[in-house]
Amino acid sequence: QKAEWAKLLHEKTVSKDGHHVELVANIGTPNDLQGVVDNGGEGVGLYRTEFLYMGRDELPTEEEQFESYKAVLEGLNGKPVVVRTLDIGGDKKLPYLPLPEEMNPFLGFRAIRLCLDRQDIFRTQLRALLRASAYGNLKIMFPMISNLNEFREAKSILLEEKDKLIQEGVKVSDEIEVGIMVEIPSTAVLADLFAKEVDFFSVGTNDLIQYTMAADRMNERISYLYQPYNPSILRLVKRVIDAAHQEGKWAGMCGEMAGDEIAIPLLLGLGLDEFSMSASSILKARSQIRTLNKADMEKLAEQALNLTTNDEVLELVKKFTNH
Ligand code: PEP
Ligand code: MG
Repeated sequence: QKAEWAKLLHEKTVSKDGHHVELVANIGTPNDLQGVVDNGGEGVGLYRTEFLYMGRDELPTEEEQFESYKAVLEGLNGKPVVVRTLDIGGDKKLPYLPLPEEMNPFLGFRAIRLCLDRQDIFRTQLRALLRASAYGNLKIMFPMISNLNEFREAKSILLEEKDKLIQEGVKVSDEIEVGIMVEIPSTAVLADLFAKEVDFFSVGTNDLIQYTMAADRMNERISYLYQPYNPSILRLVKRVIDAAHQEGKWAGMCGEMAGDEIAIPLLLGLGLDEFSMSASSILKARSQIRTLNKADMEKLAEQALNLTTNDEVLELVKKFTNH
């Protein structure tokens, strides 16, 4: 099987009936680049930048960050790289950035909320990213966006830093797409409105499932409620994809669900454009997608959206794809 997959290393990802999708990788550091290349990744769909900030005792400087971002962009030779701005807080803490204890850290001061408050940290990262943009195909993505004000504010800060750099004579790409993660239900619900302002969406199912089902993604006791195939999740994902397409934008997914064998037929049917997963899953997913007809998967997805439970969807997919 591995040998079969290896033949697909340099192939595009197309369904049996010729529909093309992008299979890209989730990475945490420039060291992960080799894995992306070795596994035939068509780019990076999620670069989790928090690792740059972790395991040390002070904030990374603009220069350090610039070097890391540049290394990733150059390493991918013009292929798309979606960099997510700092998603710290919640379960991820920094020793040099003490934050008050919270009753519900996952519903608290994290990610874009922290960045809009600590603009010194945010602006440094944005400057590093903007400077690196001259070296490849950079897309910037904001995490944990819950309402349009957050997106507008984050984007305007980005544009301010861009203007400053240009004033300083620094080269900045004019083609940077700016998008958001959809990992909070309020944002999925208003996807049609977001789609008029963002360049792309990437659905973060790890958090979207936890917030939709109100089931902590780390809590074993209620893990039975963490249901990726629950029709409520599928309907939210459909909303996001349809909203993007309505405005001529693209929609990806960078949560674990994007690389899940059961979810892939559904996501193909729903029209997802980009699937971002751990590099080691890419060839397997490519080989699976080549066996699927998109037209059939559209029918599968339509049926799934009208089922009542997670298990019913699971059974349907298995039956449909002869598992
Ligand atoms: C997600 O929430 O799906 C996601 C990709 O982000 P993280 O797992 O880093 O929270
Ligand atoms: Mg998340």
